[in-house]
Parts: sequence; structure tokens; C-alpha cells
Amino acid sequence: MNITPFTRFRFVNAYFVQEEDGVTLVDTTMNAAEKLIAAAPGTIRRIALTHGHGDHVGSLDELKKRLGESVEVLMPEIDAQIHAGEREKTGGSWPKLETKPDVLLHEGDRVGSLEVVASPGHTPGHVAFLDTRDRALLAGDVFTTFGRVEVTDHFYPRFPFAAMVTWDKERDLESARALRALEPTVLLAGHGPVVRDPAAAIDAAIARASG
Ligand SMILES: [Zn+2]
Repeated sequence: MNITPFTRFRFVNAYFVQEEDGVTLVDTTMNAAEKLIAAAPGTIRRIALTHGHGDHVGSLDELKKRLGESVEVLMPEIDAQIHAGEREKTGGSWPKLETKPDVLLHEGDRVGSLEVVASPGHTPGHVAFLDTRDRALLAGDVFTTFGRVEVTDHFYPRFPFAAMVTWDKERDLESARALRALEPTVLLAGHGPVVRDPAAAIDAAIARASG
């Protein structure tokens, strides 16, 4: 695997994706710019966001300040529109961001070795990233993996927060099915530990999900 997790406050993950020219950082956790730069296994070339919630974009402005123009910021278009005040906010925290994305992400776009997979539901613009080298899946908040794999479309007491702020539960479950169909070899979620060979666990999660 070419991806290394970074966990903040024991509950939220960012990921370092190794590329030939350096590192793509997927999500930023919160108040962690200095720690992320120190932990990165190379120069951070770009920051790609799964969605606009505060626990994922929470170090973006500080990272941009420290890394300057050399870093490219990529955000799903619809969540960028919410941050820009062009669309109504959905549930969860949407902190004010000074950083404007350089690139708006859409289904099928490439970010280095990663392929962008539209996976709306948790937020309207939510995307996942599939590493085309080994099918590792950066699933953002479509799934959580504390205790076991769960879809964020329904309340799960071990980690209730993700479901509480999910915008459209049916679309979230549809996205969970679409991500499962990608046959990921590793599941890397926004919250919870890495799950290898996740097919059976994801199937069980989808079976338990509402819908
Ligand atoms: Zn979220």
C-alpha cells in the first residue's frame, strides 16, 4: 500500500498518499498543520478533500499558510460551493475557510494515482478516492470502522457523530454500495482503523444499514 494514515484526537484520520513527485494529503483533520507536515513521508504537493466538514478541512488554512503556493488544494465542487456560500449548508460543521480550492473535483477525475469516485449522501459533494495501483479505497465518511464497518446512514452507538450529520441517508447507502462494487482491497475511512480485505465486513454493514 502507498498510503499511510494519520490519526488526530483518536477519532479522525487524514492519509498520506505517496506519489513519485511527493505526497498527496487526503483530508487534514483539525488543528494539525504542523504535525501533518512533520509526519508526511515527503513534501506535501497537494491536499485533496473528501468533503467539506470541519473535522476534515480543519487544518487547511494553516497548511496553506505554511506550504504556500507550492501546494494545490482540490475539493469536491458541490462542497466547495457550500463553503463559498453559493449553496445552503447541510448538517455538520462548515467552518469558515479562507483557502479557495485550486481544483474542483468531479467523478472520474485523477489526482495522481487516485481516481475520484462521487459518493454523495454524507454531504452533497462527498467523494472517495480509489488508488488505481492497488485498489486501496479512501472512503471518507461513507463508512466508519470503529469496532466494525458501518455505513453512516444510520445511528451506530460506537461512533454516532458521522450519521448524525449525514445529509441524505438513501444516497449515502447507494454510495456505500457503489464503493463496495469497486472491490477495494483496503478500506481507509475518515474515522476508525484501517480494514484490510474489507469485502465481507462491508457486505455485513450494508446488510445492517437502513434502506
Ligand atoms: Zn463528515
